[in-house]
Amino acid sequence: MSFFRRIEWKGVKKSDEFLPVVRHRLGGRLDLIRTQAGGVSLPGGGSVKDFIARLPKAELHLHIEGTLEPELMFEMASRNRVHLPYQSPEQVRKAYEFSDLQSFLDIYYQGTRVLLHDRDFYDLAWAYLKKAHEQNVRHAEVFFDPQAHTERGIPIRAIIDGLDQAFQDGKRQFGISSKLILSFLRHLSGDHAMKTFQDALPFRNRFAGVGLDSSERDHPPEKFTSVFARAREEGLFVVAHAGEEGPPDYVWQALDALRASRIDHGVRCIEDPALVDRLRAERVPLTVCPLSNVKLRVFDAIENHNLRQLLSAGLCVTINSDDPAYFGGYINENFLAVHEAFDLTKDELCTLARNSFEAAFLPDSEKTRIFDELDELASS
Ligand SMILES: [Zn+2]
Repeated sequence: MSFFRRIEWKGVKKSDEFLPVVRHRLGGRLDLIRTQAGGVSLPGGGSVKDFIARLPKAELHLHIEGTLEPELMFEMASRNRVHLPYQSPEQVRKAYEFSDLQSFLDIYYQGTRVLLHDRDFYDLAWAYLKKAHEQNVRHAEVFFDPQAHTERGIPIRAIIDGLDQAFQDGKRQFGISSKLILSFLRHLSGDHAMKTFQDALPFRNRFAGVGLDSSERDHPPEKFTSVFARAREEGLFVVAHAGEEGPPDYVWQALDALRASRIDHGVRCIEDPALVDRLRAERVPLTVCPLSNVKLRVFDAIENHNLRQLLSAGLCVTINSDDPAYFGGYINENFLAVHEAFDLTKDELCTLARNSFEAAFLPDSEKTRIFDELDELASS
């Protein structure tokens, strides 16, 4: 048993400041070590917030268009002469009140209209990479939605050129490895997805996987069986959003029809015990996005999220930020939110970080290196 299994934390949110209460269990006794505003020194060092910041993390569920912060949106709108129906970045932020997935998507697609040139896609990805580096993200598998741009006349080459260059620079400058996931919009047809895929094939060596996103309701994964089969023939890895707003049946379809090796969201799997058994038996990872789930009313409050149930069911759960510019937090804020809601122990936080690398499409040697680092962090 590591030292940290004997530590319990209780996070208390006071204004915007994190106020941890640390209790140290020794010989069956529970002692309060020290409590102070703004942080506390732990045996092993630092507050929960610091510990989360020090955890190496892989981000596996992130839409690059969802990282467009209002300030950058305004900058791009100005240089590209695109009219925005807002007067200021503050006004944009005020508009980010959503009642469900669709109400978010309406605003999200409006924001993408400022992205016109390869430089815009580069700047967008670069802004995310700087943030990811600050938050100790070591590896990112990132969705992009070509159809949201090609529909507006933007060449697919400009999208991929800009993103690919930024992620290559991110590897050089920050040491963050990455993979791009070409994601199909499920509210459009299977034929449209196939056409997009064919248009992207000349750039096949610059993306590593395909995904499925956008409005889930009434758009079952089976619509996309053919294009996913085609992608697998190309040796691409396959993931799909399912079981966020859609029923558990959509998760079955993602597994059986699309042969997805990872499920994005998947939180509604808990309604189907046979599905939970399968996800556990096959160790299919779920890329869970807690702040997104609350913002889009999948759960009415973070305390009512089913993360604890998913973990107790023995599933490979990972924590991710989805569309952080719109949902009020990047990956560390998501970790902190679930820690505060569920009193996650240091071991559980390490498990979540470990799962993210287990679930990543990385070579085993790279995963082993990170697992060793996590073990060292947990026992320091
Ligand atoms: Zn998503």
